[in-house]
Amino acid sequence: MLDVQRPVQFLKGVGPSRSKQLERLGIITIEDLLYHFPREYHDRSLIRPAHSFAHGEMATVKGTVIGGSETKPRRGLTITKLALQDGAATFYAVWFNQPYIKKQYTTGKKLLITGKIDRNFGLPQVHVTDHELLDGDEGLHSGRIVPIYPATENVSQRFLRSIIKFALDQIGTQVPEFLPDKILDRYNLPCLPEALYNIHFPRDMESCQRARKRFILEELFLFQLGLGLQRSYLTRQPKMHRYNQGRLTGQLLQNLPFSLTAAQQRVWQEIESDLQGPHPMNRLLQGDVGAGKTVVAALALCRAAESGLQGSLMAPTELLAEQHARSIKEFLEPLGIKVALLTGSSKRGRQQVLADIANGVIPVVVGTHALIYEQVQFKNLGLVVVDEQHRFGVRQRAALLDKGYRPDMLVMTATPIPRTLALTLYGDLDVSVIDELPPGRQDIKTYHLTLAQAGKAVGLIRQQADQGRQSYVVCPLVEESEKLDTQAAIDLFERLQKALPSCRVGLLHGRMKANEKESVMTAFRQGSLDVLVSTTVIEVGVDVPNATVMVIWDAQRFGLAQLHQLRGRVGRGSQQSYCILVANPTTKEAQERIKAMCRTQDGFVLAEEDLKLRGPGEFFGTRQSGLPNFKIADLVRDRREVAQARKEAAQLLAQDPDLRLSQHQQLLKRFISRFPNFVKYAEIS
Ligand code: ADP
Ligand code: MG
Repeated sequence: MLDVQRPVQFLKGVGPSRSKQLERLGIITIEDLLYHFPREYHDRSLIRPAHSFAHGEMATVKGTVIGGSETKPRRGLTITKLALQDGAATFYAVWFNQPYIKKQYTTGKKLLITGKIDRNFGLPQVHVTDHELLDGDEGLHSGRIVPIYPATENVSQRFLRSIIKFALDQIGTQVPEFLPDKILDRYNLPCLPEALYNIHFPRDMESCQRARKRFILEELFLFQLGLGLQRSYLTRQPKMHRYNQGRLTGQLLQNLPFSLTAAQQRVWQEIESDLQGPHPMNRLLQGDVGAGKTVVAALALCRAAESGLQGSLMAPTELLAEQHARSIKEFLEPLGIKVALLTGSSKRGRQQVLADIANGVIPVVVGTHALIYEQVQFKNLGLVVVDEQHRFGVRQRAALLDKGYRPDMLVMTATPIPRTLALTLYGDLDVSVIDELPPGRQDIKTYHLTLAQAGKAVGLIRQQADQGRQSYVVCPLVEESEKLDTQAAIDLFERLQKALPSCRVGLLHGRMKANEKESVMTAFRQGSLDVLVSTTVIEVGVDVPNATVMVIWDAQRFGLAQLHQLRGRVGRGSQQSYCILVANPTTKEAQERIKAMCRTQDGFVLAEEDLKLRGPGEFFGTRQSGLPNFKIADLVRDRREVAQARKEAAQLLAQDPDLRLSQHQQLLKRFISRFPNFVKYAEIS
């Protein structure tokens, strides 16, 4: 028997060049091929005489070739026309530019044909979209419910159908079932061989639906197993370090110019109790932009320091690391806690700082993720705070484990996760939410202007500058053409300089050197610039309370989450703030996004809206979110299955926390081949 884990090349008819092409579809093993599911089906099961179809209808018909002709009405066009006999009647099948047809289908051959009926001429003609030779009775491409696959250049539907059919016939019936019988029974699901057959070549749509349901549940179940394995692994790790409540956290709270909101207090308590707990903390801290996550992070880092432990705060970019270092220093240095900032550009004194971290003299370190992993050796790391949008925390923990650290982890995110998704996504994390903004925040007035109306935005900037307030003007940065985008920012900068002669306008873009960026940011922060024109490098975290205007140029090019993040850069002080979306949206979806922004400022509402508009993959930016690319499940559409899968995974892991029981070995094997990344930090093998 062929092992499904072997490369597709082991299948007959798949040579090296074919397997290269298949690789582009993500198909490497035979198993991948069997799990390359159709994206839709065309029902070509109804075979009727060609004469019974009306003009323009799609038809599947059968006939025997009785003659053929080829014409070349003009250069570059070859029309092949076969005459076919269908019972007593005759019809024509027509192909364009496929000259081999005539040689292949000689008189007497039986064909099954799908295409559009043309009745403009005497006898019916079929403009062929799919055809096959009928040897026996069974058709693969016609005369049945036909699968339509995600395909790519050079990999045709016909080829995919043929090799999938071949693989199924060879080994499809022997692939071992790995889902527990209990689950199959409970949800009335077909077993694996049957489901594989029916998802590719269903007899009828009902068996197809049952097969699909099985694979949806299977995929979600494996994913939930991954989350569960990881969680149970982490919650069994003993914590090797201890926290003691000292004076400093209390003093930090007293020093604050404000008191914590109820939500901040609650979240801080949750974190405190995790820190005291017997296992490393694994917590996600969610809070909309401006909700006040930084002070909570500072409290946790302070607790580490007063306990004689080290803490570190990791940010995704240098700019953010610098910003964080500044706020954290403001909180901690008055208490005598040393805070070091590590960035790529601060080479001076680096060796000494690293040495001081290694010998424990510096308790708190702020830097970019990469830098901290690569360069820093801690004496006794107790706590890691990760400031990040998505699910990065997971990978970071893996990297830290590799270095022998088992710190408490707090992952902060400003992306509000719709409640409908939070459990699915963060099944492995405890979640805290700061669901309340500090008091005194005003609504940010949000307006949409077309490009032709953009002059009004310039007027607003001028008027605010006259009152001593500052403005951001953001233009989109699309990774693929950073150069063009940078040029767009420079152009806009020059136009604004001309239009606002009384204002001091600064420019910030990704191609500037780190120290240039830093000096522009400093100038803006200190108020020596009125306007900052920028590509999206200021997207997260920048905090300038005196800024009251956010103009987003070409706003249709941003996703809702990003627009919301950007808007959160203003409205941080007590002044009325404004967000102006300059856009000529052409698609319905872009229009909806802009409308939603004008309608609400609630990040959760916007997140739900975004999810509806784009689906979860897009919403989280699958690649960076760590969210797997689901092949068949859809976290929003299949909510019911998500819940079922969660329940089943929890039950199974309660019985067999590391999948060691012999009856779960096939399951384990399939889990590893489907979600190899989970394995690294779940300590299973
Ligand atoms: P984010 O959650 O987006 O990181 P920050 O931590 O940057 O938000 O906080 C935004 C602003 O609100 C900061 O200027 C901070 O000092 C202030 N802030 C935080 N908590 C409170 C509070 N409880 N009361 C008043 N202002 C607060
Ligand atoms: Mg922040």
